[in-house]
Amino acid sequence: MSGALVFYSAVDNGPEWQAALAAAAPGLDVRIADPADGTVEGDPADVRYALVWKPPHGFFARFPNLKLVVNLGAGVDALVARDDLPDVAITRLSDPHMARMMASFVLFCVLRHAREIPTFEKAQRERRWHYVHPRTAGEIRVGVLGLGELGAAAAQELARQGFDVRGWSRTAKSLDGVQSCHGMDALAGFLADTEILVVMLPLTPETRGLLDAAHLALLPRGAKFINVARGAVVDEAALITALASGHIAEATLDVFATEPLPSESPLWGMDNVLVTPHLASVAIPASAAAQIADNIRRVEEGREVLNRVDPARGY
Ligand code: NDP
Repeated sequence: MSGALVFYSAVDNGPEWQAALAAAAPGLDVRIADPADGTVEGDPADVRYALVWKPPHGFFARFPNLKLVVNLGAGVDALVARDDLPDVAITRLSDPHMARMMASFVLFCVLRHAREIPTFEKAQRERRWHYVHPRTAGEIRVGVLGLGELGAAAAQELARQGFDVRGWSRTAKSLDGVQSCHGMDALAGFLADTEILVVMLPLTPETRGLLDAAHLALLPRGAKFINVARGAVVDEAALITALASGHIAEATLDVFATEPLPSESPLWGMDNVLVTPHLASVAIPASAAAQIADNIRRVEEGREVLNRVDPARGY
């Protein structure tokens, strides 16, 4: 493979990505940009591809021959919101291991609520033997908002475990074991019929603040709430109110409107909330590199790239 790829991330391991890309795309010259200011050694004109997570403003303009931007992650909200995006193909990572990691985390969250684990943790702290007869998975209605690459994998894993899984997306979807509906008109009925809600929607202009007080009120009293997608899809103040009143009985939250979650957030102190620090799933260089290499080949051969992001749509 010819040409150079520039890597920028202040949080990911550059040398690990460099090694994975060297194996998947022999001959590709991978240059790691300085995480402090985005500067890169070598002639910028050689750079045809960029693998990036939140590069500094103006980063892309340094590379006159850029043809492809790969977002180092599945969520592209930070990338497509920029006002300095180059007019080239933009793709996101698509990695079966990332999907598996997300599906297993969502399964853990759903099981935690379905099997009443927070109730037993509380009882244990009070040295109390508190038996709650378990319900079977098939009796428990789990609603997954968003049936994309990761959302569909999570929904299907839950269905495999026997949960009564329903899914909601923008366009019609057909997934084995998942009863699905789509479009804004279907959302109210979907929420009203969900006991455990799993948020797997990308953050876009349409989904920002979608789960506001009115939508949260549609969930049945005592519903459980899981967000592993993006914090700003939910009105966090409305969620806190619903959790305080018991309308939403419990939540497992991996993502927040502001990250790291500020120390003054009431969520930290709520005993019906589990806070995890945005780690439901991560990009895995060894498996994601193959997909990046494939897209680079596609660009070189003038073919359409896979997993293309539509900046106007926001995902
Ligand atoms: P995709 O982009 O593959 O899919 C998005 C899904 O949401 C699609 O089913 C899409 O519908 C649906 N959707 C988008 N907009 C709307 C809307 N307005 N109304 C109804 N449905 C809508 O996303 P993934 O499944 O790969 O990932 C989901 C999100 O998870 C990512 O965007 C990212 O923010 C987050 N994430 C979180 C991680 C973590 O560690 N916590 C790690 C990785 C990702 P349709 O199918 O019709 O297009």
